[in-house]
Amino acid sequence: MEGQGMETGQILSMNGGCGEESYAKNSHAQNAYLLRTIPVLHAALLDFCTKKLPAIVAIADLGCSSGPNTLFAISQSMSIIHDTCRQIGCSPPQFSVFLNDLPSNDFNTVFKSLPQFQKRMMEENGQDFGPCYIAGVPGSFYGRLFPAKSLHFVQSSTSLHWLSQVPLELSDCSDKAMVNKGKIYISRTSPPRVVEAYLSQFRRDFCSFLRLRSEEIAPGGHMVLTFRGRRMPDPFPDESCLLWDYLGLAFQDLVSQGLIEEEKLDSYNTPYYEPYVEDVRAEIEREGSFTLDRLEIIVAPWDGVNGGQRYDRRKTAEMMAKAMRAVNESMITSHFGDQILDSLFERFIDIMARDTKEVEHPSLVVSLIRKS
Ligand code: SAH
Repeated sequence: MEGQGMETGQILSMNGGCGEESYAKNSHAQNAYLLRTIPVLHAALLDFCTKKLPAIVAIADLGCSSGPNTLFAISQSMSIIHDTCRQIGCSPPQFSVFLNDLPSNDFNTVFKSLPQFQKRMMEENGQDFGPCYIAGVPGSFYGRLFPAKSLHFVQSSTSLHWLSQVPLELSDCSDKAMVNKGKIYISRTSPPRVVEAYLSQFRRDFCSFLRLRSEEIAPGGHMVLTFRGRRMPDPFPDESCLLWDYLGLAFQDLVSQGLIEEEKLDSYNTPYYEPYVEDVRAEIEREGSFTLDRLEIIVAPWDGVNGGQRYDRRKTAEMMAKAMRAVNESMITSHFGDQILDSLFERFIDIMARDTKEVEHPSLVVSLIRKS
């Protein structure tokens, strides 16, 4: 049973390159979150700079992917630190920047853009900027990535809703209470034990993420995390589940056309989870290595995929299908093969275009400080 019991790193990679189907061209919604995170980033970095600033600041971006957002996130942090140093009259630091993602990420495209990026940073921030030294770090953030106490600032945007794996319990298709019939993520029709299994997997993953980072971040170091989450305890709000339900319905259409087998669909689930904000707070307290400085909810608009343009429902559905495909294609291909992709996303467009619901897309922004 492909996909089940596998680590996410074996099946997930955003579509690489810069073509029409790439993540780089279809990540407007994720950019909307980055923009809304800047005030929290700013406050965290201000606090960091006004304490004892090291001569070389080590920054890591976890789940950097490949595309305009990859360098946008770190450029914001470096510029904020640089500007703050100027304002408070201390000499600006050098930067050691680590871009992390799964080994299958398109790091080549990222690396090719670095010389141009470093030049632009100098132009925008002045000759006394940095310099910044940038390295790629392939590996899962559910494992150790850096030496002990070697990082000062960690950021991660739109990545931590990815679990380390689909909950193992879901791979037992003989257990009817664990079959997520016709669905690929939590849905109103999911059996309660499926919902519980997802929550447990999130708790395990998030707790180990915090423990691992607590070893890598120096005392007093900061971490700002933005990821999809719920503002309500209901595990199935439309704002979390609607798009996954559309995709589930598109899969069901392929089953009824005989293009895929029903069991094949029943054994496919997505290693993804949108936690309730209070569960996130509780895990941070339980793990205990970080002080929670801020926890905020930000929302991207329903049509954030359109990158600020106003389109009708069908065009928005087409843009959403491209965004969903850029993220999900690798996992779908690994389980079903690539033959169904075009039909699947054509069905997705029809299903979404026919419906009238519009939901906001909330994310959580968590700002943490490593306890001394
Ligand atoms: N930060 C970027 C990319 C978000 S897409 C942006 O804001 O646009 C989510 C990224 O997280 C993907 O590139 C995916 O490969 C990465 N990711 C998911 N699970 C991961 C893990 N366990 N370790 C490292 N990266 C992971």
